[in-house]
Amino acid sequence: GEIIQLPDLDPSLLKITKTTTPKKPLPPSKLVFGKTFTDHMLTVNWNSANGWGTPEIRPYAPLELDPSSTVFHYAFTLFEGMKAYRQEDGTVRLFRPDMNMARMNRSAARIALPQFDGEALTELIKKLVVLDSEWIPKEPGYSLYIRPTLIGTQNALGVGPSSDAMLFVICSPVGPYYASGFKPVQLLATTKFVRAAPGGTGGYKLGANYAPGVVPQAEAAKEGYSQNLWLLGKEHALTEVGTMNLFVAFKKPDGTVELVTPPLDDVVLPGVTRDSALALARAHAKGDKIPGLPENLVVSERKLVMADLVEAEKNGTLVEVFGTGTAAIVSAVDKIGYEGRDIEIPTGPEGLGAIAKGLLDRILAIQVGEIEHPWSVIA
Ligand code: PMP
Repeated sequence: GEIIQLPDLDPSLLKITKTTTPKKPLPPSKLVFGKTFTDHMLTVNWNSANGWGTPEIRPYAPLELDPSSTVFHYAFTLFEGMKAYRQEDGTVRLFRPDMNMARMNRSAARIALPQFDGEALTELIKKLVVLDSEWIPKEPGYSLYIRPTLIGTQNALGVGPSSDAMLFVICSPVGPYYASGFKPVQLLATTKFVRAAPGGTGGYKLGANYAPGVVPQAEAAKEGYSQNLWLLGKEHALTEVGTMNLFVAFKKPDGTVELVTPPLDDVVLPGVTRDSALALARAHAKGDKIPGLPENLVVSERKLVMADLVEAEKNGTLVEVFGTGTAAIVSAVDKIGYEGRDIEIPTGPEGLGAIAKGLLDRILAIQVGEIEHPWSVIA
């Protein structure tokens, strides 16, 4: 038979309805992460008979959904998190949007939601952030957190691929993560729960991965820790830190410093910040130097187990532990609770180790356009 190509996402069809009641952006100092939203949102519907429909930018407002919608029952929902920065001259920049689009499409494929042209969605997101750019404070450290989301909207009970879906994008202006200095986090290594298992969904940004993390997080908080450290298997392999990727630096007998992050192996979310930190650290090791990083750095993606950390603490070879993610970029770890005691980790005088600080400064400089780099895309 004939293959009929359903319409893909098409930015040229974009319909814009501007709000008639614009809100006044909050003063930057009043912003709380994820609680304030801009005036507009992007929505596009999809169905299995007609493909992607008309993209619309319209006033931010509640969605009306049938209670039988698949999103409410079987967790047909996935999302992305990315940031836009505004420069003094008003230019708005996105950071590696292609990576978020690719990950969103992989997440969609994993739960049988429709895929789309990632460049088309990036074009639409650019239109949205430029329209709402007054909401992005120009002060250093402020940015716009962008939340693209895809949900199943078929109105029927029964577990199966959703015949209907809705993609929407909302935006939230956010303040600097480190407004009052770098604060290292304390982790509780969780042995009672797992976040992800081989063959599972941990490598995809599905809503279903996050609700089950809340109780372990609350238990860690009750014991005085800020996040949990997710382990896997009998040998307690390290995977992720709360909702960040994990990096550990060790001093080696040959005088080098090894920066290690666990391999993705289907259980670790492929973080955009993780990928960026790896690329920059590897470039540094090859001679494209980053201030603050050790001269003799070796970068590896390899399996790490808790016994490695325990031994490194004992030998004094544990240099730094930090998490990476869009929200904080990097976050230092100064303590890991494990089997009834705390592993102590150096963080340096500023509360952020030299490698973490070097990577943070470099990534931020690229994001805000201080250093020209192909990762930074003008909206
Ligand atoms: N791991 C998990 C489980 C996450 O939710 C996130 C946040 N998206 C990350 C890692 C970091 O990913 P990114 O650098 O793309 O924000």
